[in-house]
Amino acid sequence: MAGTDRGDLTRTAILALLGTVGPLSRSEIARELDLSPATVTQLTKELIGHGMLEELDLKPSRGGRPAQRLGLVGSAGRALGVKVTADHLVLVDARLDGEVLGSWERPHDPAAPDALEHLADAVESVVREIPGVPPLLGVGVGVPGSVDDQAVGTVNAPTLGWQAMPVGERLRRRLNLPVLVENDVNALAAAERLYGRGRTHSDFLVLTIGRGVGAAIVAGGRVYRGARGGAGEFGHLQVDPGGPPCGCGARGCLEAFVGSAGLLATARARYALPHAPGTDAAQAEARDPLGAVAGLGRAAAGGDAAAREVFAEAGAILGRATAGLINVVDPEVVVVLGEGTADWPLWRTGFEPALRAQLYPGRRDISVEVESWDDTSWAQGAAALVLATPFDSAGAAGEQGRLVRARLIGAGS
Ligand SMILES: [Zn+2]
Repeated sequence: MAGTDRGDLTRTAILALLGTVGPLSRSEIARELDLSPATVTQLTKELIGHGMLEELDLKPSRGGRPAQRLGLVGSAGRALGVKVTADHLVLVDARLDGEVLGSWERPHDPAAPDALEHLADAVESVVREIPGVPPLLGVGVGVPGSVDDQAVGTVNAPTLGWQAMPVGERLRRRLNLPVLVENDVNALAAAERLYGRGRTHSDFLVLTIGRGVGAAIVAGGRVYRGARGGAGEFGHLQVDPGGPPCGCGARGCLEAFVGSAGLLATARARYALPHAPGTDAAQAEARDPLGAVAGLGRAAAGGDAAAREVFAEAGAILGRATAGLINVVDPEVVVVLGEGTADWPLWRTGFEPALRAQLYPGRRDISVEVESWDDTSWAQGAAALVLATPFDSAGAAGEQGRLVRARLIGAGS
């Protein structure tokens, strides 16, 4: 029914507005969205009835009556976010306002023949642990690869050995819940859009450093996905044709130099790591490259010159490449995230001069901001895929987004 759809879109627009700018009065909502006061009164009454909005303090006004402000109810819904890595899963239970209610870690072997069944088992067992109030709106899954469409969820991820894996379809069938699947860096960008820089910027870059290197492009307030969901594979920009082979099959990619394995290889070449290839210690580094990079970071912070040089060199390579990306995309700000940010002061000594030297005139003062990071941040991004859909007036999450909204509204009535 067209009338119902229009009402649904307008309710979503009201939620999106309040989610983005914070509490507003009814007359401010009417003005911002160009709606009649009667429409706003009716729709906000419904949203309050559904438990999604609440009446807050009175905003003093000059002259007339003070206006009652309306705000989102953070506890109106929750989502489960799942981050899939090469050797484990991280799951978080997060509220509509982003607050984390619980987190879990489970071993996972993406290369196993029954990897999808195991993934579904792990998610299902956590779903059973989650209380029914606030209602679970859906499951968001972040993967280190490309995804055809959030609401379909077919994944290509070379680092997981996954080709055309029907992650979304399999999980939806098993869980009987809305499931959204997205590239993990794009999912972080969705979280930034909802809770971070996106509140004040509509054009920004998210850069991640850690095991791999990634980027997400937010343009005009939306995450740019490309024709097949593969946009933002920044780690596979070639920086040296004579460079080391990369996991993607090409040679000399940015990630091959500044991803954790690349950093460790450089460290060995500079004798900043005592472990020659083939030794037990080197094999342990290969199994836990992030842990080994953390050790290298401790050595650098302790004054080891060779270790400092490894980070500064990686920072310079990343800085030059990032300047190129900024020159192409023209963002307002760059946000750096990922496990590697723990060592950012070490990266920064190489990154900053290389970046500024290569930026186009007029962009040289762009702000690069590093945000706090923890083990659940990736999974929080995945949860944001679901939590963003009530505010998604453009319908980016398609049919699954409609199902999420139906669960949110249905739960309150
Ligand atoms: Zn590559």
